[in-house]
Amino acid sequence: MTGGTSRVAVIGGGIAGLAAAYELKCGGVDAVVLEAGDRPGGSIDGSLVGGLTVDSGPDGFVARDDAAAELCRRIGLGDELVTPATSGACLFLDGGLLPLPDRSVLGVPWSAEAVEGTGIVSEAGVETLRAGLAREADPLAGDATVGEVLRPRLGDEVFERLVDPLLGGINAGSADRMSIEACTPPLYEAARRGGPLGAALQAAGRRGAAGTGAAASPVFRSVRGGVTRMVDALAGELGDAVSLSTPVRRVSPAAGARTRWQVTTARGSMEVGGVVLACPAWESARLLEPLSPDAARTLGEIEYADVALAIFVVPDEHVTRPLDGSGFLVPRSQGLLTTACSWSSSKWRHYARAGLAVLRISAGRTDDRRWMDLSSGELVSALTGELAGAGIVSGDAAAGGWFQARLRPWKRSLPQYRPGHLERVGAVEACLTSETPGLTVAGAALRGVGLPACIRSGQQAAATVMRLVL
Ligand SMILES: Cc1cc2nc3c(=O)[nH]c(=O)nc-3n(C[C@H](O)[C@H](O)[C@H](O)COP(=O)(O)OP(=O)(O)OC[C@H]3O[C@@H](n4cnc5c(N)ncnc54)[C@H](O)[C@@H]3O)c2cc1C
Repeated sequence: MTGGTSRVAVIGGGIAGLAAAYELKCGGVDAVVLEAGDRPGGSIDGSLVGGLTVDSGPDGFVARDDAAAELCRRIGLGDELVTPATSGACLFLDGGLLPLPDRSVLGVPWSAEAVEGTGIVSEAGVETLRAGLAREADPLAGDATVGEVLRPRLGDEVFERLVDPLLGGINAGSADRMSIEACTPPLYEAARRGGPLGAALQAAGRRGAAGTGAAASPVFRSVRGGVTRMVDALAGELGDAVSLSTPVRRVSPAAGARTRWQVTTARGSMEVGGVVLACPAWESARLLEPLSPDAARTLGEIEYADVALAIFVVPDEHVTRPLDGSGFLVPRSQGLLTTACSWSSSKWRHYARAGLAVLRISAGRTDDRRWMDLSSGELVSALTGELAGAGIVSGDAAAGGWFQARLRPWKRSLPQYRPGHLERVGAVEACLTSETPGLTVAGAALRGVGLPACIRSGQQAAATVMRLVL
């Protein structure tokens, strides 16, 4: 393997690594992506089901952070950006589907009227919410879990039946354990301001901070045909610079140099002037252990959730209700394996086919790994039964034969941010700046699991390294 002191090795060819390498290439830097797997994209991939290629990881990205859309424009996909064809979603509660209320920020209602009469919570729950939203509160000092901040103000019922399914859905997490600062910045800002939460949320919602008020523009975007097209386009731009099936075994300082690195893979080794570690945190931790033990320890402590995604392509005659929304979420209290179900052929026009419905079902949370004890067949059959139970497909569905299904396990795929996460990430970066100049980290474990945040993280890592190699 050849190298060079002005060359940069990007370790990991997920979206963060590809975005970093593309940024480096645009800046005139010779970058190579070393990817362990036999395809680029990491958590972004598609699966062929019933003749359709359907996103089996992310299927869109939030619109309020423009990083993903902006990257799409730069790589020739600007005209291919799409918005969902439908916006309303439901909650699965006590055997039925109820529409999610609007007038909320990240799913947290800013008025009791938003949930009153919806059937989501009891009358007592509505009154608890009304009082909690109006109550004066001291400004939040420091970080906390979302639950610590919101449970006392919203009441357990609203929190568990409405808020946790929405917020937990961000990273298959639990709102009782996730950092409010790192996972839900608009809620953190509202809590930091103090005063009545309802007024702060309403102001944030009206400003468009992830709100669902009347003036809100589309919350999500995607690429016509699927998010995998971003990976194809980036890989096309990078060409031979992407080296697949090339797991990195070790990174060590080059002999006699503090700012040059020896990167060793199964295929040989190369000396480079910069390194971007864009692999999952546990793998970055392993590679960093001999170089920066404190940074390695902090990264190694980040937990990941295991999830599975099942795609069903179902003939219309077996669909038993109009799929007139984007899908439904399932609170953990309902006991289902399903955590969310997207009605993909309603949500995205590119999956719409005459006579067929495309459904994407997620299973697994940070504290619910039941799906991992089941065989693929058992899991598909259990999820099918739950679809029938929710009144989405006909009752004889579990007998099978009427649908095509594809199951995609994503183990250790979604990092969990605990309180203090951003401070710890800042400390990791500071450690690396002083202990490993020219070597930095990027990816979902840092400042956001969504695609825009991962892209931004890759771009920032590229800028950090570029300063040293040019
Ligand atoms: C099922 C699912 C659904 C999701 N849905 C959405 C969504 O709708 N919208 C959204 O915005 N986000 C979504 N996400 C989150 C988002 O997809 C991820 O956070 C993001 O893709 C992670 O990108 P990454 O580059 O940081 O890491 P990864 O995609 O994990 O890439 C890391 C890469 O590093 C490689 N690697 C590991 N070790 C080594 C090594 N030693 N040497 C070389 N390479 C190595 C891996 O093979 C992998 O390709 C979803 C995630 C999942 C799993």
